[in-house]
Amino acid sequence: MSEKKVSDRQRIEELLGIFSGIAASPKSQLDMYTGLGKKAVGVFPYYAPEELVHAAGFIPLGIWGASGTVREAGRYFPAFYCTIARMGLELALTGVLDRLSAVVMPTLCDTLRPLSQNFKAARPDIPMLFLAQPQNRKTYYGKDYYVSELMRVKGELEALAGKKITDEALYESVQVYNESRAERRRFVQLAAAHASLVSTQARSAALKSAYFTEKREHQTLLKELNDLLAAQPAENPRDYTRVVTSGILADGGNLLKIFDEQSIRVAADDVAHESRSFRVDVPESLAAEAPMYALAEAFAQQTDDSLLWEADLSHRQQHLIDLVLDSGARGVVFLMMQFCDPEELDYPSLKAALDTMDIPSIQIGYDQQMTDFGQAETQLMTFKEIIG
Ligand code: SF4
Repeated sequence: MSEKKVSDRQRIEELLGIFSGIAASPKSQLDMYTGLGKKAVGVFPYYAPEELVHAAGFIPLGIWGASGTVREAGRYFPAFYCTIARMGLELALTGVLDRLSAVVMPTLCDTLRPLSQNFKAARPDIPMLFLAQPQNRKTYYGKDYYVSELMRVKGELEALAGKKITDEALYESVQVYNESRAERRRFVQLAAAHASLVSTQARSAALKSAYFTEKREHQTLLKELNDLLAAQPAENPRDYTRVVTSGILADGGNLLKIFDEQSIRVAADDVAHESRSFRVDVPESLAAEAPMYALAEAFAQQTDDSLLWEADLSHRQQHLIDLVLDSGARGVVFLMMQFCDPEELDYPSLKAALDTMDIPSIQIGYDQQMTDFGQAETQLMTFKEIIG
């Protein structure tokens, strides 16, 4: 191997190491940004208008819970409740979010709505910017309603920032976010094509780190990684067992370690924390004229997600089938979050649609408090044997 190729591979490992470090320690990122005199705003799932936070001059930091044990939040939520809510509140109650200037709290599911109110009661000192998104998002009145909600959040961010969010600043943030989304979509393809260089854990970390890094900074690093990966020789897709993952989160280190130990790679994903969050761009021509309407339009165009209402599920079924066929995956691994009604409701129809196409699938229970993945390991080993 030439010296250049060796140094390119070293740099790929270095960049993946940087992303893993960031993903493993979001608090260090918060410390770093606040140490530099910057202010950060926490952003809860799903589809929060991060561009507004960015345009106000804040560093948006994603809050999708964390791994570990819930103690304090047990005073607000029962033990069986969804861990995104429990962990998010735990972070607030244990001081991890203390240095945030505010949090933005979208409320797309029945779990996030009570979380918003419990958060307000538990930490009245951290401003909570409530955001109600319309399920009727494609209609003109749905878009008008959403713009009115966004305007309210914009006003609250302006009050916190002590300055106006101009249309020009918002347009620039839209461009930054669109570029970041495009780079992450490119990475998903390249990671699948270079499975020997990008493990399942490394893939997850590269995507997860975007939640804790200013998007231009992250995009610059990811672009360098993507360019290096694109220059590497093609790999045989049959060297690894390739699957599509589907669910809310797929970032558990212990869980993904099993994927790597079994030589299982993610060919494509239908995960809320991953591709669902960056597959739709904000239309830039509209953003140049009316950026708030452009944000509402982008939300209107979101689809194929258990969190979003559709008249029927056939489009989402076909989307999942297409992900498998287009990526050459051999099956689908559903990572089912405990207590997640939206995902549980869609699952039977998705499974039935895959069955009619003879696409194997498996469902593995998952949440952020899990420590023992023995059952998941057995399931994945069996699944691998079935799909070959
Ligand atoms: S969609 Fe599911 S995982 Fe996400 S917050 Fe709601 S219940 Fe929890």
